[in-house]
Amino acid sequence: MVPLNQIIKVGAYVVKQQLTGVKRYPMVLMLEPLFRCNLACAGCGKIDYPADILNQRISLADAIEAARECPAPIVAIAGGEPLLHKEMPQIVEAYLKMGKFVILCTNALLLEKKIDQYKPHKNFCWDIHLDGDKQMHDKSVDQDGVYERAVEAIELSKSKGFRTSINCTLFEGADPDRVAAFLDTVADMDIEGVMTSPGYAYERAPDQEHFLNRTRTKELFRAIFKRGEESKKRGKKWKFTQSPLFLDFLAGNQRYACTPWGNPTRNVFGWQRPCYLLGEGYAATYKELMETTEWDKYGVGNYEKCSDCMVHSGFEATAVMDSVKKPWKLAALAFKGMRLDGPMVEDIPLDKARKAEFVFTKHVDTKMAEIDAKKAARVAAE
Ligand code: SF4
Repeated sequence: MVPLNQIIKVGAYVVKQQLTGVKRYPMVLMLEPLFRCNLACAGCGKIDYPADILNQRISLADAIEAARECPAPIVAIAGGEPLLHKEMPQIVEAYLKMGKFVILCTNALLLEKKIDQYKPHKNFCWDIHLDGDKQMHDKSVDQDGVYERAVEAIELSKSKGFRTSINCTLFEGADPDRVAAFLDTVADMDIEGVMTSPGYAYERAPDQEHFLNRTRTKELFRAIFKRGEESKKRGKKWKFTQSPLFLDFLAGNQRYACTPWGNPTRNVFGWQRPCYLLGEGYAATYKELMETTEWDKYGVGNYEKCSDCMVHSGFEATAVMDSVKKPWKLAALAFKGMRLDGPMVEDIPLDKARKAEFVFTKHVDTKMAEIDAKKAARVAAE
């Protein structure tokens, strides 16, 4: 569950933005301090770069500047694997001093080695990557034994007094019974909760065959949540760290457009347009990102690459804003429970979506030219 102080602070922030008429405002700053990872997951579209780009890091100073520029109350640090970044403890500490809520996502392989560089804090949470039970997770990360290490890391983190949650991405072929059994196991782990989402169909992911489309996503989550009702009767209460309306959206009961500026993303390329999932261009500053991105060109129904997206980084902000604007929807959901049968709400039509543009190579070439120029300048100076 999201702690009360976070709900109150984020709720007050949203209300303030609404009352002051801010049209677009961020909820979560996504910091990708590096793309290098010590795993190579089949569904990951974030690490397919030349070594020179994988070796780039966002410095402590730039990480702090990103959080100064972007007023989001929450910072989620992803990657790549953030624990490979040598200045990560200082980045986390700086963000906590700035009053941010910090979620540090990790595959946990380095957690035992690094954990003593961090201190428990009410606004700091480890978010451990775990895509299901042993068979599901080890397949997802394409390496045997990672599940056990992640579970050990969760226990270690809790034993040292850290808030700990799980980040669980689901793909085509996920079996609702297995997922439900996994969530039953997690219910006994005494963690903050699970952040779950369908995977985004990254164009650079090695496995292109197991991404869910919109209908399959909703069917899968309905099937899982139905099993959750049964689990509750057996005393297994699943906890999610997401807003109830986002989960209701996954179950096909809410028609939401995404809020791509809700989770602005800063990585080694700059501020990524338009969202955490799509790298269609980069801005030098947060202000430039917000003011010059052609937001209407993106989102479900507007752009082919968005057609299957129901990912939390795009839609959680929409759900949170809806919860604050229409709290009665939350009350109705709490009172009546989630609807898991019957027709789903009509989704946004996809027939007018503009064709996908493929710009990855251009961005990589630009970045490589920048890196080469810096190297040449360094050699010349020496
Ligand atoms: S639907 Fe929105 S969040 Fe998803 S990829 Fe498109 S712009 Fe990004």
